[in-house]
Amino acid sequence: YYQFIIPIKNMDTPMSESNQPHSSPYPHMLAPLDLGFTTLKNRVLMGSMHVGLEEEKGGFAKLAAFYAARAKGGVGLIVTGGISPNIAGWVAPFAGRMSSSRHAKKHQVITDAVHAEAGKICMQILHSGRYGYHPLNVSASAVKSPITPFKPKSLSTRGVYKTINDYAQCAVYAQSAGYDGVEIMGSEGYLINQFFCERTNFRDDEFGGSLENRARLAIETVKQTRAEVGPNFIIIYRLSMLDLVEGGAPWDEVVYLAKAIEAAGATLINTGIGWHESRVPTIATSVPRAAFTWITQRMKSEVTIPLITTNRINTPEVAEQVLADGHADMVSMARPFLADPDFVAKAMRNQSDQINTCIACNQACLDHAFEQKRASCLVNPQACYETELIFKTVGQAKKLAVIGAGPAGLAFATYAAKRGHDVHLYEQSSAIGGQFNYAKQVPGKEEFYETLRYYARMIEVLGVQLHLNTRVDAKALAGQGFAEVIMATGIKPRDLTIPGHDHTKVMSYIDVLRDHKPVGQKVAVIGAGGIGFDVSEYLVEHENLTTNLDKWLTHWGIDKNYTTPGSLTEKHITPTTREVYLLQRKTSKVGKGLGKTTGWIHRTSLAHHQVKMMSGVSYEKIDDAGLHIMVGDEYQILDVDHVIVCAGQEPLRELETQLQALSIPLHIIGGAYEAGELDAKRAIRQGAELAAKI
Ligand code: NAP
Ligand code: SF4
Repeated sequence: YYQFIIPIKNMDTPMSESNQPHSSPYPHMLAPLDLGFTTLKNRVLMGSMHVGLEEEKGGFAKLAAFYAARAKGGVGLIVTGGISPNIAGWVAPFAGRMSSSRHAKKHQVITDAVHAEAGKICMQILHSGRYGYHPLNVSASAVKSPITPFKPKSLSTRGVYKTINDYAQCAVYAQSAGYDGVEIMGSEGYLINQFFCERTNFRDDEFGGSLENRARLAIETVKQTRAEVGPNFIIIYRLSMLDLVEGGAPWDEVVYLAKAIEAAGATLINTGIGWHESRVPTIATSVPRAAFTWITQRMKSEVTIPLITTNRINTPEVAEQVLADGHADMVSMARPFLADPDFVAKAMRNQSDQINTCIACNQACLDHAFEQKRASCLVNPQACYETELIFKTVGQAKKLAVIGAGPAGLAFATYAAKRGHDVHLYEQSSAIGGQFNYAKQVPGKEEFYETLRYYARMIEVLGVQLHLNTRVDAKALAGQGFAEVIMATGIKPRDLTIPGHDHTKVMSYIDVLRDHKPVGQKVAVIGAGGIGFDVSEYLVEHENLTTNLDKWLTHWGIDKNYTTPGSLTEKHITPTTREVYLLQRKTSKVGKGLGKTTGWIHRTSLAHHQVKMMSGVSYEKIDDAGLHIMVGDEYQILDVDHVIVCAGQEPLRELETQLQALSIPLHIIGGAYEAGELDAKRAIRQGAELAAKI
């Protein structure tokens, strides 16, 4: 179960507003949760995400609008991005901190905005410990993390007591700022984790050594926080239930900590999965949906306070199933609320097919956060731009022609129609989606179906006139009353120019991903960009692991029985019979240009299948013997059956001259405008921005 809901119900026969059932289709997810002193209106928590507005000039007003939109969309409880209780705990220099009433006052605008929408919001208190990307960072012991360049100082015993006090004072300031509670971040490998695990704690004072000592920072922090904020304030503790690192906590220690945290006065326990330095994917799109809820279920019999589960829950159907199966009392979703602020409201109206689903790509959210850029969402460019990208209803509708139903054309068409324009969308093939149709073929990228499902539904709901199988003849557009024309005709794959480029061994990625032409056992892939990686994965990964949780867990070496500390065990990888070379001309590491938070997963997946990744290659020719290359001074012939060209794209602008001759204002967006470094994130944003002002 937890399979992809593809094709989604009612795609062909949409449910009209009038015949929708009135009873809730998600009784568990939409049930209130009574916490004694307060009641949450449903079981959906918007999980903590750092979005980069926290540090931006004027960012608090934008954050207020961002959270208010989610509160208005009906989410039961929001948790903010992590705020440090002191300078040593900063995520990065000058990152969000709350250690004075001046800091607290700035947050009032956020809590006011959320409360005005009848929402509830907790502030996450996050001390980064050795993950702090700055020279003032501290930890249990002076051991550098593998993912940050700064070696931490070991906190003195006095320093630890001071840190506990800082946590508690931070919670008091959060309370004074109007927050309904706090979440104490005790997972993902941050400070509290660093104290709790033997992997990073080599102390010999009362905070190191025995389990009781290693747990003391966590327990005292919750105890002191409860004492300071009083009984009627939510305290969520984010507990690392699965460390997924060597030397992580064994299950009995996790249970010990959970019980102690409950006794110390936490209201809710949230689930944390994997340290940031773990080499197991936990939230990427190739992770099966709800892949880790079993661990929260395992904790259910150990404590009595409500438990929140998390990771790769992205539809109401999956959330409902997790709760109905008794895996948790509440579900946390973070990125799905970037993708759609109205997730809960749409579920309540039984319109889940209108939810813009998070496809777990990380491209505009986490990748931005790691690059210290403002986060947004690939499928929802309005996320974190609520006060800047506004779709006002138009006074005077224009008749608009959009040519091409790829991501840019789809985004433009739906946002323009939402504003009230009369939009005609022309697509020469038999389906919407453009390049997305190739992406969805790649094992582990099945979520792309959801974006296509969303657009297909919104085309119906918003009354976009869709003309499939229609190759636009510019002359035919003339005289039809179009006020403006939007050319979103996309790209064409770049061809090779080397001798033998037209040899029968040569194929394009479209031959493989769209046309499913047979591919031999020995293959060279030219071009190691996103598509070169996708094609290589398609060639070596014969099974869709996203719908086979147990197999996925064993593939990545996760021991569901938790017999080892951190629950890591040996990986079991089904071998491939194909021999693949993935080549690039650049001398940099293959895959360096991929997303910061996902590139390592793609590289690891290909390494699992012994794909040979080669850089600094120059292509000489292709003939019956194979692909002739030079690597440095060495001449090599790769004896391959096929050479698959993934060498980027060029804009497809065949229609441009004809369209210009029409004397109708013409806009060019997406790949047709600029193919270099094109991705769906840029295409969708460009479509949305044009739609906002046309
Ligand atoms: P790309 O990222 O531009 O990569 C194409 C690669 O081909 C380049 O890295 C280049 O590497 C090589 N190349 C360029 N011209 C060449 C030539 N004349 N002969 C031989 N090699 C040449 O393009 P893409 O892989 O087609 O991807 C297109 C876009 O889709 C990307 O921008 C990407 O963001 C997006 N995408 C993203 C993902 C993802 O996982 N995030 C997946 C798929 C696609 P060298 O010059 O070093 O050889
Ligand atoms: Fe989800 Fe991708 Fe949007 Fe991030 S950018 S919220 S992962 S769809």
